[in-house]
Amino acid sequence: MHELPEMPPRAALIAGEWVTTPHTLRVEAPATGETLTEIARCGAEHVEEAVRAARCAFDGKLGEWHRWSARQRGEWLFAFAAAIDTDAEALAALECADTGKPMSQAKGDIAVCARYFRFYAGAADKLHGETIPFENDFTVLTLREPFGVCAQIIPWNYPAQIFGRCVAAALAAGNSVVLKPAEDACLSVLRLAQIAVRCGLPPGVLNVIPGLGSEAGAALSAHALIDHLSFTGSPATGTRVTQAAAANHVPVTMELGGKSPQVVFADADLDTALTAVVRGIIQNAGQTCSAGSRLLVEASCYDAVIAALAERFSALRCDAGEKDPDCGPLINARQREKLEVRLAAAKDDGIRVAAAGQVAGGAPGGGHFVVPQMLVDIPEYHDVVREELFGPVLAVQRFDDEDDAVRLANATDFGLCAGIWTRDGGRQLRLAKRIRSGQVFVNNYGAAGGIELPFGGVRRSGHGREKGFEGLKSYTQLKTVAIKHG
Ligand code: NAP
Ligand code: MG
Repeated sequence: MHELPEMPPRAALIAGEWVTTPHTLRVEAPATGETLTEIARCGAEHVEEAVRAARCAFDGKLGEWHRWSARQRGEWLFAFAAAIDTDAEALAALECADTGKPMSQAKGDIAVCARYFRFYAGAADKLHGETIPFENDFTVLTLREPFGVCAQIIPWNYPAQIFGRCVAAALAAGNSVVLKPAEDACLSVLRLAQIAVRCGLPPGVLNVIPGLGSEAGAALSAHALIDHLSFTGSPATGTRVTQAAAANHVPVTMELGGKSPQVVFADADLDTALTAVVRGIIQNAGQTCSAGSRLLVEASCYDAVIAALAERFSALRCDAGEKDPDCGPLINARQREKLEVRLAAAKDDGIRVAAAGQVAGGAPGGGHFVVPQMLVDIPEYHDVVREELFGPVLAVQRFDDEDDAVRLANATDFGLCAGIWTRDGGRQLRLAKRIRSGQVFVNNYGAAGGIELPFGGVRRSGHGREKGFEGLKSYTQLKTVAIKHG
């Protein structure tokens, strides 16, 4: 293994101090199963301290955050982005070791994290309210105000990216933050928090409380002093978190994953489409909320597409992330076993693996590898085309015409992303409107991550929008001021 940077503190960041906890959690390297380090295991008492620190920072009882203008907040975010760039190599090495993802993807994630801070730095002093025409003896205006304390619960698949997405927007808008990273991967987040302290972020503005979802996460989502909650993860946990927040009438943003279709018509540039299809499912070993995990292919090109994809899948190799393979391991044994059980059940139901990659010779034995694969002969409403598998598994189905494509695309309760591949302009627009999804990509998939583009789901994929300017608005609430002046 490459030499790793110094491990971040086995502690929580609360009120600007690193606070140790009586118990710790083991951090495993998914590529080897070996222990990387330990992290703090926060309980309800740490959550209490962190929320109170964030409250005090927001209310002006701790530090100077409440006095910072939008321009000052933007300047800090710019400086922090530059500090992330300076530390990018160490951050990427931690992200790669901790999540198992290929090194080039880890580097990309750190660059995206810095870009979030730059984007929201520039946006901080450009978010303004409006004046509203009303009776002549009134002036009515709206103010965009921060919520106060933002609770953020994030997953293990893109720790640094999601940290950037949530924290940059919340801070740009003037909130303070308590963030619960995932127990399975939070080292980059802890290092980012160290950098934030070094960059002079006032105490209590950003608090990071590592720990278990059932302990730190549950206590945070149920806390009466939080003003907003954003959650990224599974629909089941999202329900629990929403219920806890509802008890205090705390507004929530839910990003709950997807079962996103790539719809390929025979008139598409098939070579470009298939390159994007493969990348869209093997990126981060398929553990991506916006993974293109379903492929719908027009019947007239189905056989040709399957043959071309089989060649591409057979060439894919799994290995440790530091070797920058096509595909890294899954995050842990539990996720791998869960996936293997579902793949075995699919096989029992007559579903066939049309092609698969391999684990590279020399890959570490203890790694949680699942080879990239494509499934065919799938009954129309089978689980593998309706439920998130969260692995490098592409489920392929055939369609006859546009109506059939739309019917299959919408045959899941999720609706996060969709890709449409066709040269027919009318069809591009018709499908973009008819497919139920938060984002639609035409002749591309994912717009290279597009941090500027509002992102979020419909139906079981969640609600609320992050990324882009909409994401910044999500961390504000509108106040209406009506002035009667005669
Ligand atoms: P999860 O349970 O939804 O975890 C997401 C975050 O919620 C983690 O920080 C987790 O803490 C926390 N959490 C867990 N239980 C909680 C509770 N009762 N109250 C508050 N917070 C809680 O996801 P998972 O178990 O890691 O993965 C399971 C499945 O979720 C995956 O197979 C995949 O389908 C889906 N998933 C989706 C995304 C996405 O990007 N949409 C990301 C990850 C997973 P811990 O630190 O204890 O995990
Ligand atoms: Mg780990």
